[in-house]
Amino acid sequence: MLIYLLSDIRIFDLIDILLVSFIVYEFILLIKGTRARQILSGLIFVLIPLIISPWIQFNTIIWMLERILPIGFLALLILFQPEFRKTLEKLGRRGLFSSQVYQKDEELEKVIDQVHKVVVKLSKAKIGAIIVMARETALEDHLENSSSTILIKGVVSAVLLENIFYPKSPLHDGAVIISNGLVDAAGCILPLTDNPKLKQEYGTRHRAAIGITEVSDAVSLVVSEETGKISIGANGILNPHNEDDLKDALKRMLSPIQNKPLFKPRI
Ligand code: ATP
Ligand code: MG
Repeated sequence: MLIYLLSDIRIFDLIDILLVSFIVYEFILLIKGTRARQILSGLIFVLIPLIISPWIQFNTIIWMLERILPIGFLALLILFQPEFRKTLEKLGRRGLFSSQVYQKDEELEKVIDQVHKVVVKLSKAKIGAIIVMARETALEDHLENSSSTILIKGVVSAVLLENIFYPKSPLHDGAVIISNGLVDAAGCILPLTDNPKLKQEYGTRHRAAIGITEVSDAVSLVVSEETGKISIGANGILNPHNEDDLKDALKRMLSPIQNKPLFKPRI
């Protein structure tokens, strides 16, 4: 019987099953610890009465749910819009058309040296900063979304970055975005994370440093004005780093072949 059933399976059925498993797996990974997980839990709460009501004859519940469900799909699309967007962006990054940001290792090393130098200096002086280092996702949206953003397009140097974050500089508020070895802009407003599990002590600077890594594959660096602590953000997770392992961590994360999750979650 089993052999008979198995002989009926075509190669397309296997591909079909694999694709569905992949989509479900990615979806679960994506909503882990996010607002979407809470929405889904709520949804299951609504669906359970619907599934059991034909047996128990909860006529009013059936009547109500029958009217709500047809618009439910549209409501889900609206509720999950940020998650759908993230999923499509993620898929796009894995696709055929993604480009690698740094063509040569030396280019990347130069940028990391300069960024490392300034971050250590800012940390010692307890000057707050966010530096976002783009990888494959273009961050154009975040360059154009605020009047406080100033386009720079200057070669990355510790001196330039130090000047930007100097507390009396008009550019010190907001984030710097670096891509392709250039400081694209300063004063950028990044999306804040809405992860409910984050430490309470994280203010808007740290939440912005996490937020940008939820909507892109960028790596963010944040220096706390309050404590001088340096942290690195990637894939929606922020981890503190000391200055000694900072360079190696950045090299690991920004090298073009790196495409795997970068940290074990430690939120
Ligand atoms: P710190 O440890 O440095 O105090 P924090 O996480 O407690 O950081 P805040 O004290 O709220 O955060 O930091 C405020 C600063 O963070 C602002 O002055 C601004 O420069 C920066 N900031 C706040 N929101 C954003 C944002 N959405 N995008 C970029 N930068 C932001
Ligand atoms: Mg603060």
